[in-house]
Amino acid sequence: MTERFARERVRHELARRSLRVLRIERPAPGFVRVALGGEALDGFAAPGPADHVKLVFPDGAGGTLMRDYTPLVFALDAPGGPELVIDFYLHGGEAGGGPASRWAAGAEPGDELVVAGPRGSALAPRDIDELIVVADETALPSVMRWLDTVGAETPATVYLALEDERHAAYLDRAAAPNRAFHRFPASTAAAAILQALRDRRITEGTFVFLAGEATALVPLRRYLRRELGLPKAQVDAHGYWKRGTAGHDHHAPIDETDPDD
Ligand SMILES: Cc1cc2nc3c(=O)[nH]c(=O)nc-3n(C[C@H](O)[C@H](O)[C@H](O)COP(=O)(O)OP(=O)(O)OC[C@H]3O[C@@H](n4cnc5c(N)ncnc54)[C@H](O)[C@@H]3O)c2cc1C
Repeated sequence: MTERFARERVRHELARRSLRVLRIERPAPGFVRVALGGEALDGFAAPGPADHVKLVFPDGAGGTLMRDYTPLVFALDAPGGPELVIDFYLHGGEAGGGPASRWAAGAEPGDELVVAGPRGSALAPRDIDELIVVADETALPSVMRWLDTVGAETPATVYLALEDERHAAYLDRAAAPNRAFHRFPASTAAAAILQALRDRRITEGTFVFLAGEATALVPLRRYLRRELGLPKAQVDAHGYWKRGTAGHDHHAPIDETDPDD
């Protein structure tokens, strides 16, 4: 018998694509949506809900630096040709943030953006009875992809750690009768979400996806994996950024005390 929550892995040919900004939108306060196009999108695929591409930016010293982002939508049949849509959370506001959010705040149609990857995709498990998601703003695009992937018939509870509660508007289009959304201020969210997880039932058919600030995820992951003893395949946790670290490497273990991380 296959292990519960087994994930099919798909490898992609590694490509670096030079794309052009087609449109800029504002899907919710705090976010900039960038639709990218170009013939280079030929062969692009990102079928996993938490796939990521690497966006390449000049580092100002003649080199480049890269940041990870979620391909929110890839539409082959858009009226003007294939489109890749990426949503940027402007973490330092309109004028602040690192190179990626600064670029997004000033992006205009016609600008170039180099996109590398994805290198591979982990498809969603097929046997999710119920979905629990813990996320901050940076993970809202992947939350949208998880909800779209499991479909409105799968019960889902989303716990959000938000810098500003207006950012929750990002998920308005995901509302459905058996989905619950709980918002917590970022400053107190880790403790409040831990308590919310302690207060609820997590069955063997419940799949848990956690993504956001790496340090804030440590107690949540410890509770799920060590205290509840949930198997590794049932808890998918990713540090999407780390306070005080530019270009955080999300392959670094979230919990350095856990050899299984
Ligand atoms: C797999 C994956 C998928 C991701 N998908 C998305 C996505 O679709 N949309 C999205 O907006 N982000 C996404 N992120 C997060 C994004 O890569 C980081 O927030 C990244 O650090 C932003 O780059 P930057 O150049 O703006 O800032 P950096 O140069 O990396 O950081 C500059 C400073 O800002 C801080 N910082 C970084 N992010 C935040 C934040 N969210 N809030 C407060 N301070 C912050 C850093 O700690 C650092 O001190 C994803 C990350 C991963 C690993």
